[in-house]
Amino acid sequence: MLDFIIVGGGIIGLSTAMQLARRAPGAAILLVEKEAELAAHQTGRNSGVVHAGVYYEPGSLKARYCREGNAETAQFAAEHGIAFDRCGKLIVATREDELPRFAKLEDRARRNGLNVERIDAAELRRREPHIAGLAALHVPETGITDFPALTRAMAADFIAAGGTIACNTQVLSLEEDPDGINVATNSGVLRTRHLIGCAGLNADRLAAMAGIELDFAIVPFRGEYFRLPAARDQIVSHLIYPVPDPAFPFLGVHLTRMIGGYVTVGPNAVLSLKREGYSTFAFDPRDAADIVRFSGFRRFLAKNFRYGMGELRNSLSRQRYLELCQRYCPELTLDDLQPYRSGVRAQAMFADGTLAHDFLLRRTARSIHVCNAPSPAATAALPIGRHIVDEAAATGFVA
Ligand SMILES: Cc1cc2nc3c(=O)[nH]c(=O)nc-3n(C[C@H](O)[C@H](O)[C@H](O)COP(=O)(O)OP(=O)(O)OC[C@H]3O[C@@H](n4cnc5c(N)ncnc54)[C@H](O)[C@@H]3O)c2cc1C
Repeated sequence: MLDFIIVGGGIIGLSTAMQLARRAPGAAILLVEKEAELAAHQTGRNSGVVHAGVYYEPGSLKARYCREGNAETAQFAAEHGIAFDRCGKLIVATREDELPRFAKLEDRARRNGLNVERIDAAELRRREPHIAGLAALHVPETGITDFPALTRAMAADFIAAGGTIACNTQVLSLEEDPDGINVATNSGVLRTRHLIGCAGLNADRLAAMAGIELDFAIVPFRGEYFRLPAARDQIVSHLIYPVPDPAFPFLGVHLTRMIGGYVTVGPNAVLSLKREGYSTFAFDPRDAADIVRFSGFRRFLAKNFRYGMGELRNSLSRQRYLELCQRYCPELTLDDLQPYRSGVRAQAMFADGTLAHDFLLRRTARSIHVCNAPSPAATAALPIGRHIVDEAAATGFVA
């Protein structure tokens, strides 16, 4: 009998596993991941940005864990020899009608305890000669790193503390009784006292297997990127972001310096008809049927039809995608948009059609499930893992 099974080899699963192994020395802890390697989905397909915490509702877990995660990620990266660059970011207002939202964002950033600086168009040009805008907000705490490398370092620490990892192991069903949980996988049935679900794009399905009555569903939103040619690697020294629409947790197409030394643009946010599907027309009949059947999605669509169509058009036309980038970087051309990998976000949506903005946990007597861990959850992975281990300890899962 194992003491714990953790499901999911992304950064949330590994952060939780590492901290649980430290908190419960001697416990038998197994992390299972269905892919052949760790960080194969959201964790390995994101923008690599260590967020500072500008956007989030003051007082929310997201705001708090983002701030704490920013500092802890920098420290963890330094201790494990992983690249980290606190390059800072500029949020650029390019149209008069964005200025009221821009002012609100500045206010929110300050309420979240950030030391932001507002600069005018001339100062923006001086700091970033290739970028144009009416005003910009400088956020010095934002950084970039290598999230898959952080995940692998957490895995090494977990194993050093006595934990075990089984890749190529997919959880197929769960059966909980008063003494434990039978976990059926593609390589046999395992028995554990407790289980922690960190299944990202499959979080709702794993929670349903545990018998949790769902008041939400995971709706997958693909984020498509392009990469700039090598000649443009030095085009910016900060990350360049547009002013986002506050109704959505997506931050808009941004110019991102990657830790590998190149620059990407993206991601947009288009509905994906396959949860782990990375090409434009990726389709999975079960995933698509689940979306269409979910009443929350139909309500969401009715309220946000124009937004959805706009994102879809930008996805289908490189010219329209380019126009988004040209708002703040006018010299970019179609030739600058070279192919790059995409990622799919696991976004929890409630039955009334609203998006879950904060982290979301659900539980049974013997299991805890992370049901919404959207951006900035890679940044916030260390505090989120600690929170889950605290929850486990508070309910007597940890002796
Ligand atoms: C396009 C994009 C850009 C983003 N940009 C940023 C950013 O710049 N900064 C930031 O902080 N955050 C960003 N995020 C968010 C961040 O990547 C995620 O919040 C974070 O990676 C979530 O980690 P996770 O471990 O929950 O999920 P994942 O990394 O998706 O891991 C879940 C794992 O569970 C496994 N799994 C699922 N079901 C089962 C099963 N039944 N059995 C076994 N294994 C299973 C999956 O194979 C997967 O490996 C971005 C996300 C996307 C998609």
